[in-house]
Amino acid sequence: MNEISPHPTLEPADRKPGVDAKVASVNTVLIAEDNSISRRILESWFEKWDYRVTAVENGLDAWKVLQKEDAPQLAILDWMMPGMDGIELCRRIRSRDQDVYRYVVLLTAKDDKHDIVTGLEAGADDYLTKPFDVEELRARVRAGRRILDLQAALIRVQGALQFEAAHDRLTGIWNRGAILDLLIRETERSRRTNGSLGVIMADVDFFKQVNDDRGHLVGDAVLREVSRRFETTLRSYDSVGRYGGEEFLIIVPGCDAMNLVVTAERLRSRIANQPIETSAGPVPVTVSLGLVSTQSSESRLIDPEALLHAADAALYNAKNLGRNRVETAHAARAALNAHLPM
Ligand SMILES: [Mg+2]
Repeated sequence: MNEISPHPTLEPADRKPGVDAKVASVNTVLIAEDNSISRRILESWFEKWDYRVTAVENGLDAWKVLQKEDAPQLAILDWMMPGMDGIELCRRIRSRDQDVYRYVVLLTAKDDKHDIVTGLEAGADDYLTKPFDVEELRARVRAGRRILDLQAALIRVQGALQFEAAHDRLTGIWNRGAILDLLIRETERSRRTNGSLGVIMADVDFFKQVNDDRGHLVGDAVLREVSRRFETTLRSYDSVGRYGGEEFLIIVPGCDAMNLVVTAERLRSRIANQPIETSAGPVPVTVSLGLVSTQSSESRLIDPEALLHAADAALYNAKNLGRNRVETAHAARAALNAHLPM
């Protein structure tokens, strides 16, 4: 088997919208202040407010902390510091292309309006003029937290939307658009790396009869369970999507022609061996599968559309030969050639 790497953007981890790890760092704060008394006071206040505090005494150390993956989202930066001042830190924070917002409060002894404008233009969200009092700082930090909480909520919504856009609502597996995107990407990868790629088209036999005899709710339960059995039978880096009503497209990267047949046969028996439990009682279900492997095909088949056609033609053969069976595109070659100019 060839070595394969996970899909660059559509990884299994993307499948469930959940709390992003980035969101977990909201309760942390970076305090950068060269005056040790001032720094300790700030530290003790934030600790009292249940923050996890990282305190540094110069701008260079602050920048080191801010570049870390899990850097605090709230930063209290002194304006005047050795190494790098708060203004330069602000500029650097804002010039980095980050998907997590950092809320920056500048501490300054200056109260000249022009200086305040400079600080805000450099990217500070707020400022506090020294000497400051604890209540004012607390109020400003609360305002910052509201922004960061909103940001966290937005990230969650964004994750949920991304999930919905790529997944089939009924079964939770990839939807047609997403599985076709994956097919295009995996075909491209297999062409580039000369690795083998398997494509399986699967269809539930006599599905219309299930819907007609037992109702659509039972039909839905059947599709959900077929999806679940497919998913749990496949390897984590294989992909299964709902291609049409009761039709599934399965992409098996780095799998040679022989193992592809074994995989398809495993999927078939996993469905046929055990009736599906539904609210209307157990429903015996079978699937027909057509498959094609880039390894056993001519080079012209390393093209997503040609692979789909070949797998579909093999599926058509499996249906004609009695259903509940696996057919490879070899046997379907005649059917395929009938559709292609010679
Ligand atoms: Mg200072």
